Amino acid sequence: MRQNYTYRGVKGMRDVFPEEARRYQQLEQRARDLFSQYGCGEIRTPLVEHTVLFERGVGQGTDIVNKEMFYVPAKDEEAGPDALRRMVLRPEATASVARAYVEHEIDKTAGGVQRYYYMGPMFRYERPQKGRLRQFTQIGVELLGSPSPATDAEAIGMLFDYLQSLSLGTLTLMLNSVGCPECRPGYIQALQAFARLKHAGLCEDCRARLEKNTLRLFDCKKPECRAVMAQAPNIQSSLCAPCRTHQDQVLLYLTGIGITPKLEWRLMRGLDYYTRTVFEVVSENLGAQNAVAAGGRYDNLVSELEGPATPAVGWSMGMERILELMPAAAPVPMFDVFVVDPGPDTAGTFAHVTFLRRQGVRVGLEHEGRSVKALMKRADKVGARFTLFAGSGADTDRIELKNMASGEQVSLTWDEIAEHIRNF
Ligand SMILES: [Zn+2]
Ligand SMILES: [Zn+2]
Repeated sequence: MRQNYTYRGVKGMRDVFPEEARRYQQLEQRARDLFSQYGCGEIRTPLVEHTVLFERGVGQGTDIVNKEMFYVPAKDEEAGPDALRRMVLRPEATASVARAYVEHEIDKTAGGVQRYYYMGPMFRYERPQKGRLRQFTQIGVELLGSPSPATDAEAIGMLFDYLQSLSLGTLTLMLNSVGCPECRPGYIQALQAFARLKHAGLCEDCRARLEKNTLRLFDCKKPECRAVMAQAPNIQSSLCAPCRTHQDQVLLYLTGIGITPKLEWRLMRGLDYYTRTVFEVVSENLGAQNAVAAGGRYDNLVSELEGPATPAVGWSMGMERILELMPAAAPVPMFDVFVVDPGPDTAGTFAHVTFLRRQGVRVGLEHEGRSVKALMKRADKVGARFTLFAGSGADTDRIELKNMASGEQVSLTWDEIAEHIRNF
């Protein structure tokens, strides 16, 4: 890394070069293949949204909205007095998907359950000393329109199948219910009463959370707060009958597809929009920040955003976390054939190579004259399967093609090369 560089990139934002980009592509391709088996189609929403969407959708008391918003100054006349904070780079995509669903009246035009997946960059203005990325990449799924516990199980099943297929080591699914507008207020009151009694044992942040964002007391990582909260009332015993039945059904459906979640009553998730099922997939290999993916049911988000009552469930996962866990794959050779042509390439060689590329052969060709030795070294480095000795190939009929693995060398015409390579 170059030191004291004038034009260095923005802190918390990364450059990804081809070798690493290929790992992202693998994850993306696997997602497209698997999610389409479940009838999900890709949704692409803008990177920039109005700030109010997340204030309303994600919630005013959350870290995302209070501390981590990446504002985009708006300069147009419609921006109004809050121009500096009217727009924001999206910190997550669930609120955007719900917004798009309402704005385009999908419930009226499409009908039935809508199944979407998305992938792309999200932005959070994290404090840089935490070493967190300010631009990171998420893949997520949102299923809108079904209240059925089978939909929860389906969303979780997709997630689990996806993660299992990536050989990430031991993964555990943690599951809880955060109740509904019927039963949650009673639980929050009980929790507040408990926390007021234990006030002295909580950190300053938690004391501030106590009255307004009581459920977030469970999010605090400080050992003293965790010790207090371990004694807190258990939400599972406050669930109303419909919430309890819903959870039982989710567990039943999950068992049927071979997934056994660990019930974790302290799992609340940090966002306002969740109802009933919430879940996280954790890895043993990631330490404290160990959630690989997380999600839940959000039956009231769409109506919060002025849409029709639309029960929904979804999840998202951070691709960078998954890449950390994924075993490094064997490097994929960049080229099928590398041209060893010591002279500057002629128009003839260039045309033949282009002809090969048009037939689907990946050909490496350097346009500057270099020694045979240097070119062979380069062919080796890029992992070419064959080398092609063009020489004066443009003018003669036969070209020497060498198989780099076996050392075997054959003499072919340009027309025969593509076919020959396909047979290996
Ligand atoms: Zn309930
Ligand atoms: Zn605390």
